[in-house]
Amino acid sequence: MADVTCNGRSYRFPKRPTVVICLDGSEPGYIEAAIEAGVAPTFARFMREGLHTHADSVIPSFTNPNNLSIITGRPPAVHGIAGNFFYDPATHTEVMMNDPKFMRAPTILAAFHDAGGKVAMVTAKDKLRLLLSNKLNYATGRAIAFSSERADQATRAANGIDGVLELVGKPVPEVYSADLSEFVFAAGVKLAERFRPDLMYLSTTDYIQHKVGPGTAIANSFYGMIDGYLAALDRLGCTIVATADHGMNDKHTADGAPDVIYLQTLFDEWLGKDVARVILPITDPYVAHHGALGGFATVHVPDVAAVPGLLDRLWNIDGIEMACAKDIACQQFSLPPDRIGDIVVISERNKALGTSPERHDLSGLDEPLRSHGGLSEQRVPMIANRRVATPLPVPLRNFDVFEVALNRLE
Ligand code: ZN
Ligand code: ZN
Repeated sequence: MADVTCNGRSYRFPKRPTVVICLDGSEPGYIEAAIEAGVAPTFARFMREGLHTHADSVIPSFTNPNNLSIITGRPPAVHGIAGNFFYDPATHTEVMMNDPKFMRAPTILAAFHDAGGKVAMVTAKDKLRLLLSNKLNYATGRAIAFSSERADQATRAANGIDGVLELVGKPVPEVYSADLSEFVFAAGVKLAERFRPDLMYLSTTDYIQHKVGPGTAIANSFYGMIDGYLAALDRLGCTIVATADHGMNDKHTADGAPDVIYLQTLFDEWLGKDVARVILPITDPYVAHHGALGGFATVHVPDVAAVPGLLDRLWNIDGIEMACAKDIACQQFSLPPDRIGDIVVISERNKALGTSPERHDLSGLDEPLRSHGGLSEQRVPMIANRRVATPLPVPLRNFDVFEVALNRLE
């Protein structure tokens, strides 16, 4: 088979099944701690005998922009997904970006499928499924894509497969659970066995990482669970490369309360009520584990001439790591200008950004807040079960992972 080209990058057709994994929210340290605890021998072997390095995620360090970058091999400026939603000033509406119509680039999976390959994709939450499986033609019998969350609803026509629960031998997991991610791996192993995809993408959810930090019993057991499935995929002869969409940090005070800078409140004081509009692109239908508090915000202001003065004010606030105008942010982080506000704000490692206190439902937060979105959650691991044969791209990005898996390993 010839090389496959997608979004200006070229990928070799794999000789053995190749599995790319996005371990949602895998801050460096989780895997090391699980190895230390003796529950992750497969990770330990991969890191010792294969590849272990770090890569930079996309900013905002949120799930959708990064999953879309990984699956297209390009930053948000190319694929268009810069968050869970954006504000359209022309229509004064907040637009959810979970529909494939917002995607401006094809996926690597679709490119391999169109080139005659067998491809599979399993994601934990259904919100990502349509984006990650965009343009797959299930009628060919060479494509399978479904979510753990709606595994029971998969059909041959819409997902390329039915009877997923019977195949996997597990019930549909709760949406807020470690089981949702376990189901992704359990399904991935069954697909590797029975369907033998040339290329497979597995994407988990960061429920555990929002809850607890590296080295805790819960985190160790989660990574221990993953380790077992990696061993199974390895035994099946797969090339495996795992990376993450973003890291995760504590964003609470010493007494466990969320440590939040409420930006809408500040802008209301500065400009008058609701003159500016603060957008938190982490907001989505599943906010229980982070209360829509992350490390990245964009702000729409009616008077762009006011931006420099507003930036000065933001820089003076304790806990703001960066505040810049849209053009600088789009250049620095490769973001789509039409889906970003006039100002981009990023908080420091242990601070979160909110709109105003009454707009955040924190009732679902059973643990002190841990979240992501900023520069402090940009560094993620990249781990493979094979050695590097061709030097890796510098700087290495998490969205180079398909290129690493297909072009750079032994
Ligand atoms: Zn994530
Ligand atoms: Zn998250």
